[in-house]
Amino acid sequence: MIGMGIDIGSVATKGIIVRGDSQWQAMVPTGWSPRNAGQSIITQLLNISGIDRQEVERIYATGYGRVAFEEADKTLTEIKCHARGIAELNPEVRTIIDIGGQDSKVIRLGEKGRVVDFAMNDKCAAGTGRFLQVMATALGLDVSELGQAEEPARMMSINSMCTVFAESEIIGLLARGNSKGGIIAGLHQSVGKRVVAMARRMGVNREVAFTGGVALNPGVKRALEEEIGCMVIVPKTCQYTGALGAALLARGW
Ligand code: ADP
Repeated sequence: MIGMGIDIGSVATKGIIVRGDSQWQAMVPTGWSPRNAGQSIITQLLNISGIDRQEVERIYATGYGRVAFEEADKTLTEIKCHARGIAELNPEVRTIIDIGGQDSKVIRLGEKGRVVDFAMNDKCAAGTGRFLQVMATALGLDVSELGQAEEPARMMSINSMCTVFAESEIIGLLARGNSKGGIIAGLHQSVGKRVVAMARRMGVNREVAFTGGVALNPGVKRALEEEIGCMVIVPKTCQYTGALGAALLARGW
């Protein structure tokens, strides 16, 4: 069986094709058209795998743009796909913290990826990848540079809960001569506190995995570990967890 999973996110569209134990992955920016991004991922995955479109039994789509993507045989929630993806990558995980471009989620799992409970923040940009992108721009950096530039020893607390006010606060801190590294450490702590507060309301069971594009930032991982008080696992393919789950469910097992 050959299955394809496509996760059309607010920032990035990720896709995985699985055939037996082999898998191939591709990513493009979602841009203004989720449909075009999904189509482009199908083309890329077929090219890199050498698999014909007719050989693909099923394509399952997830992510916020899934409803606009008619090429999919079925659409699935991100919760279900993340749970299936992590059950494959780290079956011992019981709590997933997923931080993507425009939302953050906490998913509690039972055995074999069974979803016990979940909570989501999709109402406010604070505590999401978008928040960190806006702050990186205010600091004259790319979001991928934040993790390397932080200096936890000189952390500046960021007090504003709102993205717009936090951006002004950062501009003020820079104007007063504070170091970028200390400000970045404070930003990571503010994301960590926000997401862990949501997780605590549900209860955090070990092991804990951190997924989504923001998991590529080691500073946010450190902040989560400090807030929760335990190690957090970041799978190598953290940003592809939802696409992997969709591909495995499309494959049928
Ligand atoms: P979505 O599914 O909503 O498109 P993703 O899970 O793909 O979101 O995550 C996108 C977010 O990941 C971006 O908003 C950005 O904050 C963060 N991100 C992406 N690449 C990196 C990187 N190399 N280093 C740190 N953060 C990153």
